[in-house]
Amino acid sequence: MRADSPQLVNTRDQAYKAVCAAKHAGNIVGVVPTMGALHEGHLSLVRRSVAECAFTAVTIFVNPAQFGPREDLASYPTPLEADLAALRELNVDLVFVPDKDEMYPSDFSTYIDPPKISLPLEGTCRPDHFRGVATVVLKLFNILPADAAYFGEKDYQQLLVIRRIVAELNIPIKVRACPIVREPDGLALSSRNVYLSSREREQALSLSRCLKKAAELVQSGETNAELIREQMRAVLLNGGVDALDYVSLADPETLQEVTQVVGPVRALVAAHLGKTRLIDNCLIG
Ligand code: AMP
Repeated sequence: MRADSPQLVNTRDQAYKAVCAAKHAGNIVGVVPTMGALHEGHLSLVRRSVAECAFTAVTIFVNPAQFGPREDLASYPTPLEADLAALRELNVDLVFVPDKDEMYPSDFSTYIDPPKISLPLEGTCRPDHFRGVATVVLKLFNILPADAAYFGEKDYQQLLVIRRIVAELNIPIKVRACPIVREPDGLALSSRNVYLSSREREQALSLSRCLKKAAELVQSGETNAELIREQMRAVLLNGGVDALDYVSLADPETLQEVTQVVGPVRALVAAHLGKTRLIDNCLIG
């Protein structure tokens, strides 16, 4: 399909019709849900969709339902013009940018009760976060009935939550997972990195460093998971993070904490640097 520049739509109806028309014309459709402030992490998902699908739709919506009352909804960056320019470069076909009322009219009251996998980690620290994610993602899948949806492993638990919802609610869409894109020094790209002062930017490196530490310990034969978590915490606290939400060494499918590392595990971390909360993770083994 590839128009010169993407079609920009703001209503559900326009988005639905555009995707249906693309499918009717025989195109495989990919969708990339985002909250905007696009960086190379987001763009890697978009590139993959463009490579694999004849028609790619990107959504930009800062979803209020997934922010807690003391979180950064009001200050979340919204550089729409720069986002559209980046998407134009990548030959995206459709960009859906609804406003809040388009997604949540004033009398909106239906929310998804997210699957059990949403309970640990982010679920403990950010109550209702995955309820908001699950609800908006299901809405977006209905508004843009694509063949495939692209998500980043950066939000690893979110990826598992969405896979579960798609499987258990029989949503006819393939979920594609894309690897984490990092800065050369290891920091995972995030829209929230713009909040960091130069000192916090330096301290933020301790997130990827603690994951590296965990991988090194496992490689050197360490199997005691609590000892590894302890070492991860030490890297973070010595690196100057202000508060730890969690340090986890978990089963990659169930997110249950492991006691012994006997197969592949996922290391996951969430920490605060000043007012900014960052997450990171990696697969080990
Ligand atoms: P967000 O705008 O933060 O909701 O992210 C939109 C999508 O981009 C999600 O699927 C994220 O997991 C993904 N994403 C964000 N940062 C990265 C990154 N550094 N590498 C890969 N994917 C990412």
